[in-house]
Amino acid sequence: MKRREFLLTLGATSLTIVLPGSAFAAQTGDAAHGLSLKQIQNDWRSLLAKGAKVATSTAPIQKTEAEWKKILPPDRFGVLREEDTEKPDSSSLNHETSPGIYVCAGCELPLFSSQMKYDSGTGWPSFFTHIPGRVGTKRDWHLIIPRTEYHCIRCGGHHGHLFDDGPPPTRQRWCNNGVALKFIPKTGKS
Ligand code: FE
Repeated sequence: MKRREFLLTLGATSLTIVLPGSAFAAQTGDAAHGLSLKQIQNDWRSLLAKGAKVATSTAPIQKTEAEWKKILPPDRFGVLREEDTEKPDSSSLNHETSPGIYVCAGCELPLFSSQMKYDSGTGWPSFFTHIPGRVGTKRDWHLIIPRTEYHCIRCGGHHGHLFDDGPPPTRQRWCNNGVALKFIPKTGKS
């Protein structure tokens, strides 16, 4: 199996590995304490604020780049539509630990929950898994060493890159530009 196929398989599979709570929490933070990966992936709606307006369909939306430029501020347009990378430690979401949901800043599609987030120490918001079926991957040849980049399945917006140095049980690090996300706290406060 080629490396890319392996990564895609991991992303699409609902693993049922359950680690002892203490071992899992030590790697991923208290947010995931005692939960299986399958529970974290499937029960994300329990962290969605009541009445929050998010995209409920993953059907692709089509806009011209000119239309995106009209509705997105320059920093978000640069990352989502031109595949820029924000400076490390520049996003307040890097240190966000509150319960809630992270949606795509381009189309409001929920991509991650707070239970999927961990402190990678890289300076970018990092997640060890994502909400199933919400992101797509492709090879990025911008650097000498090929990387796997991922994008929102609904609007096609670029979010970040996938690495294999994350915590168990996935060993994945979904390294996201904070500016490409909006955080909706479970309390409903902004
Ligand atoms: Fe999107």
